[in-house]
Amino acid sequence: MRSTEVLIIGGGAAGMVAAIEAARAGKKVLILEKMKRLGKKLLATGNGRCNYTNFVQKKDCYRGEDSKKAFEAVERFGFSDTVEWFKEIGVLPAQRQGYFYPASFQAVSVLHALERELQRLKVEIHTEETVLSISAGNGKPGFAVNTDKSSYLAKKLLVCTGGKAAPVHGSSGDGYLFASALGHTVVPPLPALTSLVLDGNFMKEWAGNRLQGRVWLISGAGGEIAGDEGEIQLVDYGISGIPVFQVSRFAAKALEEKKEVFLGMDSMPAYSYEELYRELIRRKERAGEVYSAGDLLEGMLPDKLIKVILKLSSVSVKEPAERLGERKLHGILKMIKEFRVRVKAVSGFEKAQVCAGGIPLEEIEMETFASKIVKNLFFAGEVLDVDGICGGYNLQWAWTSGILAGRHI
Ligand SMILES: Cc1cc2nc3c(=O)[nH]c(=O)nc-3n(C[C@H](O)[C@H](O)[C@H](O)COP(=O)(O)OP(=O)(O)OC[C@H]3O[C@@H](n4cnc5c(N)ncnc54)[C@H](O)[C@@H]3O)c2cc1C
Repeated sequence: MRSTEVLIIGGGAAGMVAAIEAARAGKKVLILEKMKRLGKKLLATGNGRCNYTNFVQKKDCYRGEDSKKAFEAVERFGFSDTVEWFKEIGVLPAQRQGYFYPASFQAVSVLHALERELQRLKVEIHTEETVLSISAGNGKPGFAVNTDKSSYLAKKLLVCTGGKAAPVHGSSGDGYLFASALGHTVVPPLPALTSLVLDGNFMKEWAGNRLQGRVWLISGAGGEIAGDEGEIQLVDYGISGIPVFQVSRFAAKALEEKKEVFLGMDSMPAYSYEELYRELIRRKERAGEVYSAGDLLEGMLPDKLIKVILKLSSVSVKEPAERLGERKLHGILKMIKEFRVRVKAVSGFEKAQVCAGGIPLEEIEMETFASKIVKNLFFAGEVLDVDGICGGYNLQWAWTSGILAGRHI
């Protein structure tokens, strides 16, 4: 069994920055990473461009059972610290509406900068080595760590194995098993930042359209539980796009609690119901015999959505517009402004960008990211019960927790 001072399980975003900080403080650090290379998920972030932080930092950007504690940590190492930290290793920032990317707009340049720094600091890296189990060191101080290739005795152990989202990049929930084995509890992991599977037989017809709209979730008697606005994508199994991603963790949670969840959608949030009513009446009056019901809505909504809205309002696309009475016009308007459909499911971990749930922050010493349960054990990144909204907040959490943990190790 090989002895090591600091052992980090997982060479993703959090593991790499933690290793750098610990090595800068003079520690001998070993990273064990199960994939062929470090930071495989990092390469996929921001559509390959790596949205690594955001100028806007608020408590609501971080979610979990104890999001206040998460945000307090982000205030200790946050947006400007992150930008400076990355500048030092050679990543110059570029921004679009407060969303920060490397100036190259290539995630690979962030990964290479981290790898160069790890190399400079002589951090030992074993890729293609999967940790299978960990236990408190059998009477000796430290931790026994068994992999598919070897075993180690580590004085200090940092678990940065990520969550369960996007397992193709390496994170498949191993960290929860390690944490449980050492006496921690785990808030059940659920997919977050993902699309929704809807009930109904109309989705094949709307698939392929995008629109600027607002979505919200309704569950139980409590009314709206979450909402967001932006570019929505209509897909053949349901609905996707950033606003849907932003609300998806709340759908996952309600469905997990066996509650019914409905999705509401306003396909034209820039116009009020009354404005649209007046516009439809104006168009209808100009129509004469020329306009069909489909023509009446053209230019207001994308084509496939028009067909679905008319179908669900029991109006034929070809029906002459002049024949549409008040009841039908209001039916169509209600479909445009208050479309409502049952959510069947949340797309699974394979499609999700992050994972809600994980090790509760109340079991973590938030100044140091040390376990309150086991001495010399640390956790950082998505394995903890924190999920950020879209916009660079999940990587910010990985940097914040990884850097603070690495410093205190
Ligand atoms: C497609 C996609 C796009 C995204 N885009 C963005 C974005 O633009 N901005 C943003 O802020 N966030 C984004 N995210 C989320 C962000 O990538 C994650 O929140 C972040 O990578 C989490 O960092 P982590 O180090 O905790 O976990 P990970 O990056 O998942 O790293 C965990 C590492 O641990 C390794 N590992 C797991 N188990 C073991 C084991 N048993 N033994 C050894 N190694 C193990 C894994 O292989 C992996 O390399 C995106 C996610 C996805 C999937």
